[in-house]
Amino acid sequence: MGCDGGTIPRRNELVKVKQKPETKDHTSHLIFQWRYCNLSQQLLQRPIVTCGLGKLYNKSAIIEAMINKESLPNHIKTLKDVLDLNLTRNPEFREDAIMRIEISPYICPVTGLEMSGKFRFVALWSCGCVFAERALKNVEMKACPKCQKCFDKSDILELNPDFSAEETMKERMEVRKRRKKSAKRVIKKK
Ligand SMILES: [Zn+2]
Repeated sequence: MGCDGGTIPRRNELVKVKQKPETKDHTSHLIFQWRYCNLSQQLLQRPIVTCGLGKLYNKSAIIEAMINKESLPNHIKTLKDVLDLNLTRNPEFREDAIMRIEISPYICPVTGLEMSGKFRFVALWSCGCVFAERALKNVEMKACPKCQKCFDKSDILELNPDFSAEETMKERMEVRKRRKKSAKRVIKKK
């Protein structure tokens, strides 16, 4: 449907995708995405990391897989391919609510929105801070609102993006790689 560059999706197809009903399946999918490690399938516990595609993992699971030479996703070769997330704890959250999608362990430090899958959330690759996407929208910001470290557009990484965002995520991953390479070259020249 439209993704192969052949056909253009009709409006009703687009609307259908957007208006996903909040079914039981949908809720368990969200819980799985936002509460569990994408690699070990264990509950997420800090330190939590993300990869270039915005999936969430326990850092310990990634390290363990590397030590045991277990298979990792293709785009994760070293710890440099994952980002430590600087998450903001939700003061309202209690451990016994871990299976209730409407109460999230983490929130956006700017808007106070919960990181539950209901709102788009992004991390900044430059510092690891995590925000609701709308906290960074409509503002010509160059510095992270939480830690003030500078960032640019290629540093913005959507967490658990829907399928349509994957291409953008891959492009940004490439931009960051190229930038790192050219930064290395500059250092060598000096
Ligand atoms: Zn920051």
